[in-house]
Amino acid sequence: MFPSIALASALHLTPPQQASVFTPEPGYQRPKNRIAGDKAMRIIFLRTSFENDPDPTVSRHSDAEMREVGEALTSFFKIQSCGTMTVSKFEISPVVKIGKSSLYERTDKDGKEVPAKQRRAPITDAVAAAQRQLGVDFRKEFDMICVMLNASPTGGKISPPGVAALATGPQTSIFFGAKHQWRVYAHEIGHNMGFPHAWSVLDKKGEETLSTDRNFIEYGDPTTPMGKGSNSYSLIERYRMGWIGSKDTDSRFVKAFEPGEISFMAYDRPDASGCVGGYIQGDFGVEIKELVSKRDGADNGGDVPSVEAPGPQRLWFSVISRGNLVNGEMQDSPRPLLLAHLSSLVAPSKGAARAFTTVSLDLKPAPATTRREQMAGKGLAPGQSGTIRMKDGKSVILKFVGYDSKSHQAKVSAVLQQ
Ligand SMILES: [Zn+2]
Repeated sequence: MFPSIALASALHLTPPQQASVFTPEPGYQRPKNRIAGDKAMRIIFLRTSFENDPDPTVSRHSDAEMREVGEALTSFFKIQSCGTMTVSKFEISPVVKIGKSSLYERTDKDGKEVPAKQRRAPITDAVAAAQRQLGVDFRKEFDMICVMLNASPTGGKISPPGVAALATGPQTSIFFGAKHQWRVYAHEIGHNMGFPHAWSVLDKKGEETLSTDRNFIEYGDPTTPMGKGSNSYSLIERYRMGWIGSKDTDSRFVKAFEPGEISFMAYDRPDASGCVGGYIQGDFGVEIKELVSKRDGADNGGDVPSVEAPGPQRLWFSVISRGNLVNGEMQDSPRPLLLAHLSSLVAPSKGAARAFTTVSLDLKPAPATTRREQMAGKGLAPGQSGTIRMKDGKSVILKFVGYDSKSHQAKVSAVLQQ
């Protein structure tokens, strides 16, 4: 499509096994306008420069850098979807010139805020400029458009404070920094696909799992790129994508567990099949207002209205058996980890219930002064136990009984105790 530049395409030595997506339950489905989980996804890295750059033919995002990101994403999505979704191509655009940097700045070089009305939207301008300068409608040709910006030569800030990148809607995202890891792209594309941020919860005293004196931490899930992770999208995220089903006739599925002995396969295996995790339904006492606060570590007091009839809450169990993505691969990790997440369906004022933010539970509470963001701090290794407090005073006593490293089946005991 851009004969003048080197195109990096995904290597598909064998055609992907045609697998279709599973359909999640209504509340867990993503908005209809989001990319299908079995799409052959086309990604464009749209490199831009500012009209007032010293040399507007130059982007600070090199071909080599973007190719590395594209290759990591190709591996990542293939692994995440068990081959159901592919990156069929990624391309790196020639440098497209947008307006003067000052047109896009939120704050100028002196830190003075520029009123929203006076600012132009860099994504809109980049896509329009690509159409004009390259004669290509990226919105038609690609499923995901990642807009890459240069540093502002006028010295102001284009990004909102503390934001490295952000996604808008189902198709576009923008990257404000010089060099982002692949997982930042996996995060923004995750938003494009319909995922919210992955939260975690910590007991303030570090004594209990899901205590009533707790802090919710945005980005706190150490596994998924929707949190702090470079590993796997959570079981719930994969389920929402249709990469995991919910019927026992599906080749891989989640199910409702009865408390007691349960067993399931690690969900992050490339050959994951059969039951790969599931949930116990109950009242865990997490209020919806706790899950909608955007204030990291806030007390979540009062300013968010309580929902009168929150839907069923689920305590999800999954086992992760592999490490972070490095050089396009995820190696088996020496110790598998049992993870627990909470989800809740919310009945909004209008329309049907939908899935809301999911929360990773800190299964190894400790009076740490630092936040637990490491995977090992969130999960139980074989032989370890944890206690999850419920709203009515009951507890779920959780034990990771064992793990078979050949079949990758985990045995877990989840018992309700008064
Ligand atoms: Zn985000």
